[in-house]
Amino acid sequence: MYRIKELGLTLDIDDDLISNLLDIGKKHYPNEFGGFLIGYYSESQNHLRITDTILPNKYKGTPYMFERETIGVESKLKQFYTQNPKKYYVGEWHTHPNNLAIPSAVDIKAVKSIADDPEVSIKNPALLIIGYANNKIELGFYVHFKNKIYRYE
Ligand SMILES: [Zn+2]
Repeated sequence: MYRIKELGLTLDIDDDLISNLLDIGKKHYPNEFGGFLIGYYSESQNHLRITDTILPNKYKGTPYMFERETIGVESKLKQFYTQNPKKYYVGEWHTHPNNLAIPSAVDIKAVKSIADDPEVSIKNPALLIIGYANNKIELGFYVHFKNKIYRYE
């Protein structure tokens, strides 16, 4: 389990989902790749469970950049919601091939714009960065909270 002590937040993610994301990421190596994270918060709103991913239909990925579009994502999201009304879009993930799991300035701007978008119903988007540096996999979980980025430990 991951936590941000300062905010009293915790997070967990299925191992199967992690290995699935790693496999998907590897297929796009050495380019960055990513998608949308699906999950739900506890009733008390302080525990996030990430359960699924939706992959973008349209995207651009290079070794140092990843951009996705939201075309067609809405209908896939509806399928999750129908199965389990608790599940919704909680954030995004992408890989950092040959790099650390630390958000770039562009990543921070992107997550801020999600938080500020009135058409998106999540105020505290989560960000997962999967870094592969020196043959080691590093998972970096972050949340945008009150205009700041915090990392889950
Ligand atoms: Zn990035």
